[in-house]
Amino acid sequence: MFFHPMDFLIIIAFGLSLWASFRVRGTFNKWSEVPIMSGMTGYQAARRMLDANGLYDVPIEPVPGTLSDHYDPIKRVVRLSEPVYYQSSVSAVSVACHEVGHAIQHSVHYPMLVLRHQMFPIVNFSSGIAPLLILAGLIFQQFNFLLGLGIVFFAAAVTFQLVTLPVEFNASSRARDLMVAEGYISNQEEHGVAKVLNAAALTYVAAALISLLELVKYIMIFTNRNED
Ligand SMILES: [Zn+2]
Repeated sequence: MFFHPMDFLIIIAFGLSLWASFRVRGTFNKWSEVPIMSGMTGYQAARRMLDANGLYDVPIEPVPGTLSDHYDPIKRVVRLSEPVYYQSSVSAVSVACHEVGHAIQHSVHYPMLVLRHQMFPIVNFSSGIAPLLILAGLIFQQFNFLLGLGIVFFAAAVTFQLVTLPVEFNASSRARDLMVAEGYISNQEEHGVAKVLNAAALTYVAAALISLLELVKYIMIFTNRNED
């Protein structure tokens, strides 16, 4: 295909995304070395935060790998990577409590999380078919409607990524508030918690930005063709 003016911005956003993913690992590793005064492991902090919110029935499981931590809304399980589960550090406790933040969102029916879950099956389908339609539309100029259809499906996927942002930011802010209020971390340690959680949030922002710019690019190509 040809070089589109938007590609310049997309490359910058891609660079940002690469930098963000390096930084999230670097920040995590750095604050993994910093023990916390309360001496809690990621598991202990997560368990106490779940219990404090009445979520006694949500289990916590260790999973292999690094940065593989997540909350499974279908099985209602908090899964923590082994370093997070077993370690007592600023990184471990921050990540563990962030995942509990998602479990709390689920239990209180946080609207953006509900929306995200409702969109998931649609987006699962649309993000699979969108690239094929867009590619076909770009190659065969006479079938511009394929590009238009691809844009509609891709827009759904981009919306999903945008909805993910408030979900992630909200989980982190819930975690930070509770960690300080419940005394898992001290006021001095909060600075490190913010660094770890913000680094993780930036990876979501960068990914959403790339998709959004790509969407604008395809819309520009589509409308330009219609004007010709
Ligand atoms: Zn999250």
